[in-house]
Amino acid sequence: MQALIGLGSNLDSPSQRLISALRALQRLPGLTLCHHSRLYASAPVGPQDQPDYVNAAAALTFQGSPHELLQTLQALELAAGRQRLRHWGERTLDLDILLIGDRCIDTPDLQVPHPQMTRRAFVLYPLMDICADALLPDGTALSSFLEQVKDQRISPLAELERDALIERENP
Ligand code: ADP
Ligand code: MG
Repeated sequence: MQALIGLGSNLDSPSQRLISALRALQRLPGLTLCHHSRLYASAPVGPQDQPDYVNAAAALTFQGSPHELLQTLQALELAAGRQRLRHWGERTLDLDILLIGDRCIDTPDLQVPHPQMTRRAFVLYPLMDICADALLPDGTALSSFLEQVKDQRISPLAELERDALIERENP
């Protein structure tokens, strides 16, 4: 199955956190990381007294069920020291399942497509890097929601900074 996921962090070296999470995804058995977006800096949604976020999106294929993918991603969040402090509050790592092919899932612990994804610039902009023509299960183009989020503050991190970060981790 194919999935698109969103990554976010705003605590303890957020860019490094995302790069480490992408590396961890690359190493997982039963999962193939196909591509990932640039890193973006974005304004927080929810409580405003928290640092800016760094966000990215990734496309992957995986074996197993959607709930198994959720468990895998939650294990990575926990390994990154994630604690749930307050709703939409600061976090070391947030991994959200955005789309799984054209499936619709509505269970208490997993909703796909992610219910908030079309309202968030920090989800849509990174997704445009990796699949500008992605569709919701009902056939609506994700790009059609960009206009509605254009006032949310988001910008790609400088390529130089990103390359420097990758080099530092992997000299
Ligand atoms: P948020 O990402 O909205 O800030 P959390 O990361 O704290 O919230 O996740 C809260 C719960 O959302 C998780 O325990 C998980 O069970 C649930 N959830 C529902 N749908 C999804 C999804 N598509 N991707 C990730 N988590 C989801
Ligand atoms: Mg989440």
